[in-house]
Amino acid sequence: MGAQQVREGFTELYGTEPDGVWSAPGRVNLIGEHTDYNDGFVMPFALPHVTTAAVARRTDGVLRLHSSDIGGGVVELALDTLEPGTDQEWTAYPAGVVWALREAGHPVTGADVHLASTVPTGAGLSSSAALEVVIALALNDLYELGLQRWQLARLCQRAENVYVGAPTGIMDQTASACCEAGHALFLDTRDLSQRQIPFDLAAEGMRLLVVDTQVKHAHSGGEYGKRRAGCEKGAALLGVDALRDVPYGELDSALDRLGDEEEVRRLVRHVVTEDHRVERVVALLEAGDTRAIGPVLTEGHASLRDDFQVSCPELDLVVEAANAAGALGARMTGGGFGGSAIVLAETADVDTITKAVEEAFAAAGFKAPRTFEAVPSAGARKAD
Ligand code: ADP
Ligand code: MG
Repeated sequence: MGAQQVREGFTELYGTEPDGVWSAPGRVNLIGEHTDYNDGFVMPFALPHVTTAAVARRTDGVLRLHSSDIGGGVVELALDTLEPGTDQEWTAYPAGVVWALREAGHPVTGADVHLASTVPTGAGLSSSAALEVVIALALNDLYELGLQRWQLARLCQRAENVYVGAPTGIMDQTASACCEAGHALFLDTRDLSQRQIPFDLAAEGMRLLVVDTQVKHAHSGGEYGKRRAGCEKGAALLGVDALRDVPYGELDSALDRLGDEEEVRRLVRHVVTEDHRVERVVALLEAGDTRAIGPVLTEGHASLRDDFQVSCPELDLVVEAANAAGALGARMTGGGFGGSAIVLAETADVDTITKAVEEAFAAAGFKAPRTFEAVPSAGARKAD
């Protein structure tokens, strides 16, 4: 859905012109999984898929929200009544952003919003962050708040953590707010320092495929909480603030010190090796050795599957079938237990690999996956 269409949708709905149209993308994470709540490194890039919002200011303390992707009409909320944990609907994401802005002292006095998205929801591609960031950017412009991109991402994370009640890290919102076309974003989630890493696969004869398994295993929320708690326990046992503080070179001795804490040992090993993999991928990309990141991606998948134990049969099958069909590397991406995997491939091999994955899914009796190419795209922007 283009900016013009969303603008027209707004006018049809509210009977007035919006003040502007903004868009914010979903993301995939190239490498660095389950590291963001360990103060570690991540490396997402933005998708061409975006959530587009037409927004107009209001001065009467009212927030009106409409999504053309959700059945139902306009939801009207009074800003004074916004309260964390009270909204279980999709409107909690945009309302949470308004709440977080006001909580931080920014004079937001209301808005009319109409939006539409091409980001698949619940596929691990962060439609929730796209929704938050597009609202934050629009309000930042309309109310001339002067907040920087990373600050908007922080406020969006707060909206999701506190208002919606989903304990997520800072990666998704930062990716949606800060990514640049043709680049992946190397982000240190401790101090939020970031670096744009050139990642223009097409120019080098490669493609990155996203394979959406279209499954989401029900227990993912509870399992996420358990992994987080296990990582915190590991850090406490090792006497560090966060697992990010365990140097890769000292991993073996750290694991020794954890003794017979088998589960914690596995979690620690994943996080420490994963941070190291992010640094390896950055070094390889900066050296122009893009094909060499393939095996690092596959190594990361094995670590998520065996040590962190957040994969599932569908994700494992994408990786196995794609690599058997000649992919350069593949891994699950996002939190796990379903969602999407990424596959790095030579352009010439894309069709063969896509077909091989589809056939493997059919043979296993799984629902057909949905595959698309992910071109590293721009972060949030004013669209019209
Ligand atoms: P993900 O971020 O991986 O897509 P989440 O569960 O974090 O999955 O967020 C998905 C939720 O975000 C949806 O269930 C819905 O509440 C909200 N959402 C995302 N995009 C839209 C949209 N375009 N319109 C309405 N709600 C949306
Ligand atoms: Mg999300």
